[in-house]
Amino acid sequence: MKVTRRQFLKVTGATAASFAVVELGFDMSATASGVKGLRTKGIKPVPTICPFCGAGCGLVVYARENAPADGPQILSIQGDPDNPINRGGACSKGSALMNLREIYNPDTGEQEINPKRITKPRYRAPGSDKWEEKDWDWMLSTIAKRIKDTRDNYFEHKDSNGIIVNRCEKLASMGGAALDNEELHLISKMNRALGMTYIEHQARI
Ligand code: SF4
Repeated sequence: MKVTRRQFLKVTGATAASFAVVELGFDMSATASGVKGLRTKGIKPVPTICPFCGAGCGLVVYARENAPADGPQILSIQGDPDNPINRGGACSKGSALMNLREIYNPDTGEQEINPKRITKPRYRAPGSDKWEEKDWDWMLSTIAKRIKDTRDNYFEHKDSNGIIVNRCEKLASMGGAALDNEELHLISKMNRALGMTYIEHQARI
């Protein structure tokens, strides 16, 4: 009979655990009743993708239904066992994903919104060592203006040999792990329309 690594670990792990528990004389009935009360029991897991790196591991999120939008909602985030990329695994960053929004406060014993979570855009002016809070309108129009100014000032139709190049080498683009194929397709088209030649993705560096 062919035994997979997963089956082997399951059987040997369960056997070892049983021996240990029996030898130590634990009463397992209390544990069995505790399992029925798991926080995630009855809550539908929602599949998602880890945003941190190019591996793109699948995760499942257990969130309280009917929780207030501005309060703690997430009960657990774990590796998705049905995802072929990570098959249930998740590194320390992916495993700690829920801390982006919520943390456990040991003083109160409650889950609460992470006070260090940044929810508004921040801007650091050239040469400055301070971050300023800005609104999205200012941020997006400033980015758009700078892209247009750079393209207007540095677009090259022909190079020094008279060869048509239609490029702007003063602009560059860096994609992130949270972008999917369709978004990257559109971003690449926009970048090339701007004449960009330096187009990279976080997963390649
Ligand atoms: S769980 Fe870890 S390895 Fe997987 S995508 Fe997230 S950061 Fe990358």
